Amino acid sequence: MKILIVEDDPVSRRLLESFLSGWGHDVQLAVNGREAWAILQNPDAPNLVVSDWMMPEMDGLELCRRIRATGKSGYTYFIILTAKGKKEDIVKGLEAGADDFLVKPFSHEELKCRIRIGERILTLEGRILELANTDALTGMLNRRAFINRMEAELHRAMRRREPFALIMVDIDHFKKINDAYGHQAGDLVLKNFTNVLAASIRPYDLAARYGGEEFILCLPGTSGRQAESVAERIRSNIAAETIEFTDQSEPVRITASFGVAAFSLGGDDTIDAVINRADGALYRAKGGGRNRVCLAQE
Ligand code: GH3
Ligand code: MG
Ligand code: MG
Ligand code: MG
Repeated sequence: MKILIVEDDPVSRRLLESFLSGWGHDVQLAVNGREAWAILQNPDAPNLVVSDWMMPEMDGLELCRRIRATGKSGYTYFIILTAKGKKEDIVKGLEAGADDFLVKPFSHEELKCRIRIGERILTLEGRILELANTDALTGMLNRRAFINRMEAELHRAMRRREPFALIMVDIDHFKKINDAYGHQAGDLVLKNFTNVLAASIRPYDLAARYGGEEFILCLPGTSGRQAESVAERIRSNIAAETIEFTDQSEPVRITASFGVAAFSLGGDDTIDAVINRADGALYRAKGGGRNRVCLAQE
């Protein structure tokens, strides 16, 4: 895994580096807390840090406090190395937010074990995040995760002055599927629908299950008109799809209705407002007879 070593002493730094890379880790180096902090600002920075305590410019404790003060998603596991073996010092390190500590001189076996603990915690954290962010039935993002990511998209779009659009999708007369074929068949239709949706968009578009049989898409760099034609393509892909339940002879077809709205970069548009406009357009698509796309006025 990726590990950041922060150590001002060149000999110790090299020693740590050779141990950790010898165990197959992908190691990055910093000579003090300030340099480490800069490295940690990269989106693909390591999330396990092994840091010395006493260093010029910014010490390990200060680095750790800074990391804990940021609310960035994804936990940073912090192991502090110290020549200070006294209880008070260890408490001070843990209070600064360190997860673990190693008193110098330490054995490489001990280091290895403590790194393994860190890996275990980070793996668990990753699994919890995945569970918290995805919808169990479809494996898509859930509503909360979608809104979080969309906020990031919104900031990027505003910075770059690029358009982005939203599509709200609702399956037509889905209740009838459940009523006619049962809830499990309904679930199968939802999964199948998700696959068609995922295959119809670009890798950097966001797609989420917004509620029961309602889905939402965020298309960065896309205007309202362009999103309208994306929605039209998805609509026809959905309508062309047939689903066969194992014990059912005749294939089932479904359709969906789409509401499209673009984020307006000029004014004081908000995510809630765009979602509302897309929802309004979806409502019109339903009222207009379903199996169609409606674009909201800007
Ligand atoms: P409309 O065209 O107006 O959208 O009609 P509809 O029947 O799709 O809409 P309605 O809101 O009346 O019904 C939605 C149905 O979706 C009812 C609900 O039981 C079903 N549903 C929601 N979540 C799930 C799910 O996870 N699995 C299954 N099988 N059905 C679900
Ligand atoms: Mg030092
Ligand atoms: Mg519906
Ligand atoms: Mg609905």
